[in-house]
Amino acid sequence: MNKKRMQLQDYMASEQIDVVYLDNPNTVAYFTNFESNPHERIVAYIVTQSDDFLFVPSLEKEEAREQSNVENVYTYRDEENPWGIISEKTFERIEEINLVCTDEASLTVARYHQLQEAFNTTNFEDIGPFIDQMRVVKTQDEIDKMIIAGELADEALQIGMDSLVEGITEQEVAAIIDMEMKKRGVSEMSFSTLVLFGDHAASPHGNPGERQLKQNEFVLFDLGVIYNGYASDATRTVAFGEISEKEEEIYEVVLNAQRTAQEAVKPGMRAGELDQIARQVIEDAGYGKYFNHRLGHGIGKTAHEFPSIHGSNETILEPGMCFSIEPGIYVPGEVGVRVEDCVYVTEEGCQPFTSMDKELATIYR
Ligand code: MN
Ligand code: MN
Repeated sequence: MNKKRMQLQDYMASEQIDVVYLDNPNTVAYFTNFESNPHERIVAYIVTQSDDFLFVPSLEKEEAREQSNVENVYTYRDEENPWGIISEKTFERIEEINLVCTDEASLTVARYHQLQEAFNTTNFEDIGPFIDQMRVVKTQDEIDKMIIAGELADEALQIGMDSLVEGITEQEVAAIIDMEMKKRGVSEMSFSTLVLFGDHAASPHGNPGERQLKQNEFVLFDLGVIYNGYASDATRTVAFGEISEKEEEIYEVVLNAQRTAQEAVKPGMRAGELDQIARQVIEDAGYGKYFNHRLGHGIGKTAHEFPSIHGSNETILEPGMCFSIEPGIYVPGEVGVRVEDCVYVTEEGCQPFTSMDKELATIYR
């Protein structure tokens, strides 16, 4: 029995929602196990209070039937009008539709107009917050996949460190990491692999470029892979040759903040408190103004989801929640250091998905 679908239908019954229409590929896969990348075509999961069906382009029919846990899979050919079929299949299950819910954050306006006609109502509400709430606590099965995604991220970090040599560019290192991961069966990284050298790492969202590696500077890796539809995300900063005393001090402050926060995780605490704990360590060391982003973000089917770990988030941490702990110090034009592990909350504390050593690694080559 599909527990996620039941949880959704219980909610639909309590809120008198007649139809839920979902077409964000990640959300569809979350409920149905069917992973897809439909581009402009429609892959939709449609749920009524007593039934459900999956609607896919006919070229995806076999995969959808094999992978998904949904009994009824309907298809449309490119020359057909998909909305007519959606309307027909939905009205086979329900006579009258008074309230439809969609995920407003991902539904396009064009599709919204089509759905009003297909379902013959203009009464639409947002189901997004409820689904975010469902997705925030992971099942053991989801966590098991994320553990393997984490192990692969550890491997990717090691590959990156092993590839460092004077003169290599950031892009070259990123390409080596991505290629080696592909050889290991990873079809997709969680996001574009980040490799930044020296002062370039001072911008937290910099892009790997033509910059060449010099002796005696930091290298920042931020990467993750998708494994069976679940993401990993980890950052390590390592020294290539001898770094300055100030750089070493900055590294120790970031590491201390990261570890202090990771050790403080407990079910029952506020998410915001965790951000404050890490921030306090960095402020006490005098670098507060150089930590200019939240402590972390939730992770699961995508590298960024709920809960957001920022100072004013009142969400209470529960076992099964998964998020990153990634403090950083960025001194513009000079140096950037970040250390990141993603963790899942347990009954006692938390467990990290990645286990690459966090003591400052120095590479002489
Ligand atoms: Mn990251
Ligand atoms: Mn992250």
